[in-house]
Amino acid sequence: MLSIADLLIHPPLQNLVYPQFSEVGLHVWVLRLDAMHAILSGNKWLKLAPWLDTASAQQSVGIVAHGGPWSNFLHATAYACQQVGLAFTALVQAPPHTSTATLADIVAWGGQLVFEPAFNAQRQQHWGQWAAQNGHLYIPMGGDGPEGVQGVAKAFNNWPHLQNFSQVWCALGTGTTCLGIAASKLAFGQLVGVNVGLNQRHYLSLLATMAQQYPHRQFKILDHPNLGRFGKMPAYLPPLMNNWAETHHLHTDAVYTAKAFYLLQQMAEAGSFEAGTRLLLIHTGGLQGNRSLPPGSLSYSWPAS
Ligand SMILES: *Cc1c(COP(=O)(O)O)cnc(C)c1O
Repeated sequence: MLSIADLLIHPPLQNLVYPQFSEVGLHVWVLRLDAMHAILSGNKWLKLAPWLDTASAQQSVGIVAHGGPWSNFLHATAYACQQVGLAFTALVQAPPHTSTATLADIVAWGGQLVFEPAFNAQRQQHWGQWAAQNGHLYIPMGGDGPEGVQGVAKAFNNWPHLQNFSQVWCALGTGTTCLGIAASKLAFGQLVGVNVGLNQRHYLSLLATMAQQYPHRQFKILDHPNLGRFGKMPAYLPPLMNNWAETHHLHTDAVYTAKAFYLLQQMAEAGSFEAGTRLLLIHTGGLQGNRSLPPGSLSYSWPAS
């Protein structure tokens, strides 16, 4: 059974050696959150753990959460619920009868799918009420909110092997993981969120929240025109992903981590880093989502064989 103690596992820190980095005096380490657990990969477990504590404190019988048909969050939540013996209702933002490998896993772990193609504030309110009346806990999008932020902060506070970084990089979804790193006691120079193609309004509000709540942190968001829209994979990406897997045993996901890694390489090649920069790139996991790619795109599969 899972417990909060699982947060205490130190994720491996991989020193990433590339000529493009060493030539400009850039030192890169990857924090392999993807390697913490075979199924519950990445940042989702960090965000989820405090919600499970809340569910336990409230003696909830189940959890309700919403996400897309390939959602890493729904996937992780379904697995965690099965492990701790909670019911799980997945509100899937997709047309009825949509079938994906992610949804198949959720069903196999005992989760119930409810298709909500037009999920909005009103439907969220409806399900919030339903959850309250039925002894369930409703978790907002992606494990957002103070619980998610605190879960990430707590994990980073338990990893004293992370020291002396000039920059910490993390791909942005809701921004909860970045906020959690900002909220942690970790000392570092600059916090960098990689914009993997979500809308600008979202990022302006994240910048405002960061400045208001964590004014002692230097936070910036980086964009690159080649990264494409959120969830869309540019054609140049799969060959690069295959190359990183081959040369560095680094499996990335097409939505978040591959784009962050690509941007890092582009900036290193453009000479954007001062010599001596020590950079920590957070591998936030998400590898199960690669199953949405056309078969044969990648030389590696999930779960790793
Ligand atoms: C969800 C997710 C993110 C984004 O995390 P947020 O806390 O929502 O910003 C980044 N990478 C991967 C692989 C994810 O699944």
